[in-house]
Amino acid sequence: MSETFRITATDGAARAGVLTTAHGEVPTPVFMPVGTKATVKTLDPDEVRSLGARILLGNTYHLHFRPGDELIRDLGGLHRFMGWEGPILTDSGGFQVFSLRDTIARVDDDGVTFRNVYDGSEARFTPELAAGIQANLGSDIAMCLDQVPPAGVSRRVLEEAVRRTTEWARRQRVLPRADGQLRFGIAQGGVDPELRRRSTEEIAELGFDGNAIGGLAIGEDRGAMFETTDWSAALLPADRPRYFMGIGDPEGILEVIEAGVDMFDCVLPTRTARTGSALTRGGRLNLRNARFARDPGPLDESCDCPACVRFSRAYIRHLVNQQEVLGLRLLSLHNLRFVIELARGARDAIERGEFAAYKRDRLETLTWQS
Ligand SMILES: [Zn+2]
Repeated sequence: MSETFRITATDGAARAGVLTTAHGEVPTPVFMPVGTKATVKTLDPDEVRSLGARILLGNTYHLHFRPGDELIRDLGGLHRFMGWEGPILTDSGGFQVFSLRDTIARVDDDGVTFRNVYDGSEARFTPELAAGIQANLGSDIAMCLDQVPPAGVSRRVLEEAVRRTTEWARRQRVLPRADGQLRFGIAQGGVDPELRRRSTEEIAELGFDGNAIGGLAIGEDRGAMFETTDWSAALLPADRPRYFMGIGDPEGILEVIEAGVDMFDCVLPTRTARTGSALTRGGRLNLRNARFARDPGPLDESCDCPACVRFSRAYIRHLVNQQEVLGLRLLSLHNLRFVIELARGARDAIERGEFAAYKRDRLETLTWQS
């Protein structure tokens, strides 16, 4: 049994557990809000905490270039820098480098060379640098550098990415890290059954503190994504946390929890807020819609967030239409509360042995409206 992860209940493949990090415990399943540039956009860390968030994401790529990971280290590390005392997970930058495909100059077995998005100057990421940046940031969980090919690439390209991802994980596994920092491996392989299996087994074999399912939710068929998650999660060590990278819609969250995933993140709640939309039990509400102009009700009747307790749909619609910052903040608060609560509710349901009913109830009311 891993010392850092304790499973407290199971229900089918779904699990409830507690992850112990250098900055506190994280009950799982857990949704992790994304603070790409050392901020969950528009929100104060105290607000994020009051929404029930237990762990945040920071971004290796962006923080390395602005303001610089050495600067953050010199100022006492990422926790102090951004005023968040709870656990932080930093991704390795692999996803950012490879999703900004036009900026890549070359990929070789040693690393990847690209032009950074800030000033276009040439930069190079290697497993050694990804480990060094994350050690400087002092995050609680560091991720391995992986090669993330886009959905729909040829099998040859996918196989190359799987091979490199394992090689890089092998190198990063033995590199220095921050005090108490956990390290997670990442499996690739897209939705190709053989390559996904190979990658998952190779990464699992390396004995990381936790393991991530990477390279999914990037535009492939959703049914194939869930099916791949189902069987590949089961190949990862049961006594270590499993992290699905990049899912945040209600249906997706419930599906991956059902497959035995413990952690997940997504920019969806805050990005949706910035488009003027709210996630609710009934589906997505576009607050720009004229039908909310005189609607005195809250965004979601069952929500206890600061936006729903105090303000009407009509008022938030007015703020959104006038591009007032408060509108953006209220929608961000609400959307984050919504997904954090969805995951917390799933945890309670798993502990009661009622996850299937919970999932069915939550999906039943979900009719995506505008
Ligand atoms: Zn709310």
